[in-house]
Amino acid sequence: MKCRVCKAPAFIKLPAHNTAFCPQHFQEFFLRQVERTIKKYRMLPPGAKVAVALSGGKDSLVTALVLKLLGYQVWGFFIDLGIEENDFSAASRRAVEEFCSRENLPLEIFSLKEHFHKTISQLALREKKTCALCGVTKRHLMNEYALKIGAYALATGHTLDDMAASLLANLFRWDLHYLSKGLPHLPPEPGFARKIKPLALQGEREILAFAQLHEIKPVEAACPYAREAKFKRYKAALDMLEEKSPGIKRYFYEGYTRHAHRFREETARPPMMSCLVCGFPSVSPICTFCRTWREEEARQRMAKKEPECYNGHKSFEDEVEKCKDG
Ligand code: SF4
Ligand code: ZN
Ligand code: ZN
Repeated sequence: MKCRVCKAPAFIKLPAHNTAFCPQHFQEFFLRQVERTIKKYRMLPPGAKVAVALSGGKDSLVTALVLKLLGYQVWGFFIDLGIEENDFSAASRRAVEEFCSRENLPLEIFSLKEHFHKTISQLALREKKTCALCGVTKRHLMNEYALKIGAYALATGHTLDDMAASLLANLFRWDLHYLSKGLPHLPPEPGFARKIKPLALQGEREILAFAQLHEIKPVEAACPYAREAKFKRYKAALDMLEEKSPGIKRYFYEGYTRHAHRFREETARPPMMSCLVCGFPSVSPICTFCRTWREEEARQRMAKKEPECYNGHKSFEDEVEKCKDG
């Protein structure tokens, strides 16, 4: 197969676009595609300052590089979760540091161990829902960082494969709340930064090819707590459909983005209050992040509070239980 533009031998074939490219024209095509996604969903004005959540994986590193090449001011943020198994956190940190130093990007590292004297691994010993609490932790810290640096938006590296698989999973469960939040651009709200997913219409193969072209070296170790079997099944089902009908993933997800407002109308947001410890919006007097990482302070604040402020929960322990169930 030959490059559609210059007829040189093709470096990548893209059945979903019914085309193939040499390295140079693929790079131009990829950047143009992401630029179109950014414009289509009105994610960023030209040259905006963007906080990019970097995990060390290829998707977040490619997100940062593409935004930089498109002329945005990229500020990297990495959370050291303190996961020692598989050397996971240290290896992820090294991948992010090397990438940011090579690309000359500002980077802030937030270490859970340094700030809270405990880590995700320690949490995992007593909590069953490690990934749920890790997700809450990352969302809270990333949001705080984006607001702190005055970024126009917080960008994450979610891909078309991620977005389509979680859409399918949420449709199977008819989870209207998540179905209302699966868009690639969520506007800011009081206490919440704007959230964008610039790679939401790019497939894994294209992202991998772009990473290889730019010699991006992502972390190879896997998180020992990853239990993605179910999610992988949805991805595999979509891969199978994509093979038979190239472009179907994108058609499925783009179609959803046109109809997502219908789900929003169906789900009322729970009333929000300010967390007594950190002041960020929360559905209970103390947010899940503070209950998890600032236990002592949370306990003291709850003890000072009048019982009627406990949202019907009798004690701090009840609050923690409620959070684990939620
Ligand atoms: Fe955190 Fe779970 Fe992801 Fe590991 S797999 S980084 S514990 S969310
Ligand atoms: Zn070419
Ligand atoms: Zn809080």
